[in-house]
Amino acid sequence: MAVMESEALAALHRVFGYDAFRGEQEAVIEHVITGGDAVVLMPTGGGKSLCYQIPALVRPGTGVVVSPLIALMQDQVDALRALGVRAGFMNSTQDFDERRVVEAEFLAGELDLLYLAPERLRLDSTQDLLSRGKISVFAIDEAHCVSQWGHDFRPDYLMLSLLGERWPDVPRIALTATATHATHREITERLGMPDARHFVASFDRPNIQYRIVPKADPRKQLLNFLREEHAGDAGIVYCLSRNSVDKTAEFLNRNGIEAVPYHAGLDAGTRAAHQARFLREEGLVVVATIAFGMGIDKPDVRFVAHLDLPKSVEGYYQETGRAGRDGLPSTAWMAYGLNDVIQQRKLIQSGEGDEAFRRRANQHLDAMLALCETVRCRRGQLLAYFGQDPDPAGCGNCDTCLTPPETWDGTVAAQKVLSTVVRLQRERGQKFGAVQIIDILLGRRTAKVIQFDHDQLSVFGIGEELTEAEWRGVVRQLLAQGLLAVEGEYGTLVLTGASGAVLRREREVPLRKEPKKPAADRSTSGR
Ligand code: ADP
Ligand code: ZN
Repeated sequence: MAVMESEALAALHRVFGYDAFRGEQEAVIEHVITGGDAVVLMPTGGGKSLCYQIPALVRPGTGVVVSPLIALMQDQVDALRALGVRAGFMNSTQDFDERRVVEAEFLAGELDLLYLAPERLRLDSTQDLLSRGKISVFAIDEAHCVSQWGHDFRPDYLMLSLLGERWPDVPRIALTATATHATHREITERLGMPDARHFVASFDRPNIQYRIVPKADPRKQLLNFLREEHAGDAGIVYCLSRNSVDKTAEFLNRNGIEAVPYHAGLDAGTRAAHQARFLREEGLVVVATIAFGMGIDKPDVRFVAHLDLPKSVEGYYQETGRAGRDGLPSTAWMAYGLNDVIQQRKLIQSGEGDEAFRRRANQHLDAMLALCETVRCRRGQLLAYFGQDPDPAGCGNCDTCLTPPETWDGTVAAQKVLSTVVRLQRERGQKFGAVQIIDILLGRRTAKVIQFDHDQLSVFGIGEELTEAEWRGVVRQLLAQGLLAVEGEYGTLVLTGASGAVLRREREVPLRKEPKKPAADRSTSGR
């Protein structure tokens, strides 16, 4: 075993030019080299690739890497070849002749690593080919793609359990940066790896400063954030829709910040060109849907900004994790508001999937909302979500640690919102969205208020002590706390099972104070 270890270290020096293994790498590599199965959870940038590349170099035969990142295979293989590693790939972008060359190299034992798209494994011809060569290790990259509940589900991953059945003597290593306990369990079960050893690296990314600001005029807020803290820096801006990606990129360019759009509606050539520019140039901003970023290895991404709410904490963690892979100070910045909550709830309700799927999606969203609304350390909340113990004293590098938010007793305000919803429904048989509810509370005689006689309601004008922005904050937090719900395609507000306790004064409702000026503008970033 010691011989194996030193061989691993020798390969690290000789091939990759690094001095030492990082974190869990050594333990993982030793385990796999000696023939054990491994499930590896490591944050993005943690160094997962070496965990299978070194065993592939040390063990006899070819390491077969299953990866969904077809667009990156050519680059990965080129990079390895530049280091003198004999690497090849097989995917749908190749023509017949190119594939024949790789197949011949594999059969002749001339490959250290073979990258394979999961859909190729479905083919009998591919399985036969693999059976005729010698395989040192199977690596299953982005293993969370096997999870049907996750945002990156790939049906082809479900058949990867056949690897263990057909090649029981070849060690397998599954790797991912996504790691709730549920995903973890699913990976182990679906890939058929009950005896695998689990290696879990810390999910803390201390150099990333987490900040979530109330959304007012998001593009302008973004522009200020970039001008004040990240002028000339490379970064990623995530938006929910293609349309807002295009508009935001345009807006940034008009205001002197060089930005390119990236989403599935652009043709493949444009997407590839924009990605290549982002990787090569300094200080370029990519405005993108979540279609962008999986597998992108750019160390000096200084910020990740979200203009819309991610669907889950896993998604948020993965997207923000693309910042600061070089370990230098970086910012994860997000603008978040009432419409995000309404929009995401509507998407879940109108989306595909059965009742169980919707329930899971709502649970994911609840966890994300709790992170947005917390008055405690955000990093602590993130780490706790991934099952790690946070520092009880706080991290000192997130907005809630830097500028602790104030809370106030929102019980009466909550009762006013809820009783307006009740009145409309009981007395009028009507359901309305947040805008109308707030107009009624503020006593505004808008056209729509007049049209429905809502100025005749007893609750009309009972909320003049708060501003519109403050009421939006109240409604948003009630939605986040499950004291109010969104229904149907118009996003009307309805009560939940928990609302009654508030109306009957059996339950207090502490709320987070909406900062007059976003807390983030006052705090100084690490740079
Ligand atoms: P992941 O796949 O987990 O996101 P990578 O395998 O791409 O991470 O590694 C991230 C970066 O860290 C790469 O640039 C890689 O070369 C570097 N790296 C990994 N392991 C080491 C090490 N032991 N010493 C120095 N650099 C390393
Ligand atoms: Zn903190």
